[in-house]
Amino acid sequence: MLIGAHVSPAGGLPKAVGRGTDLGCRAIQIFNQSPRMWRPTAYAEGDFAAFRQARADSDIGGVLIHAVYLINCASDDEEIAEKSLASLIQSLRVGDAIGADAVVLHPGSAKTGAVEPAIARAGKLIARALAESQRCPLHLENTAGTGGTLGRSFDELAALIEAAGADQRLGVCLDSCHLFASGHDIRTPDAVTETIDQCVAAVGASRIGSLHLNDSQTPLGSSRDRHANIGAGEIGDDGCAAFLSEPRFDGLVCVLETPGVDRSGPTREEIAHAVELRERGQRERIPARRTKRARA
Ligand SMILES: [Zn+2]
Ligand SMILES: [Zn+2]
Repeated sequence: MLIGAHVSPAGGLPKAVGRGTDLGCRAIQIFNQSPRMWRPTAYAEGDFAAFRQARADSDIGGVLIHAVYLINCASDDEEIAEKSLASLIQSLRVGDAIGADAVVLHPGSAKTGAVEPAIARAGKLIARALAESQRCPLHLENTAGTGGTLGRSFDELAALIEAAGADQRLGVCLDSCHLFASGHDIRTPDAVTETIDQCVAAVGASRIGSLHLNDSQTPLGSSRDRHANIGAGEIGDDGCAAFLSEPRFDGLVCVLETPGVDRSGPTREEIAHAVELRERGQRERIPARRTKRARA
């Protein structure tokens, strides 16, 4: 597992690699443009080349791009849908250009409308964006279930993938805070096993593409998206250790999107803590597995 953090590309794309390195990251996630504006950042080929070089010279093994928050692939407003399509294509093309492991996308919102036609609209738009880009995978992030957001359940994620043509490039990004807020208990190894069994049954093991590790300020099933620092929320250190040590997550990119101690994002200490929690979780799983086998 490549553990890291969401970092800023302010001052140029290669700066994000430097920030990740300073934090001790093995993976980074960036926004390809300001996440609350439609206007795309104008990059030149030299920016992409500089990023690829910086990454090659660093310990950063995984790179995710988080698409803009304004995107709503399910919108029935023509203007919003067109802007969403253009923005998603831009994210995927930047992903192609920098060799990102994936673009992570909040699939969209039905707002107050019906869910089924919203999923169909989102699927169509996502398929168009994939057709307008080359290679970069697209991971649909599970949501906390606030309002009409799509992707609150594994079945909804599966329906979105299906509606988008089940392209090979499609996968899911599992956010621990959103899983917990949407009602999945992930605080023990057994609970994580059960949750990921359900995920695999719905979307298939090969679609589990990337991870966001965040603790949750709000309780299980609250449907509220409030990230907490690792160990300081309702999931806690034990829960994070259980999540991080899930064997089916081996090899995945996992980034923290926590507020940090002074609200400036994950710290070096917090990332080191997450690495430790994964190791602790793995150690604690070994005797559990042995006992099971001895009993069987
Ligand atoms: Zn997200
Ligand atoms: Zn997330």
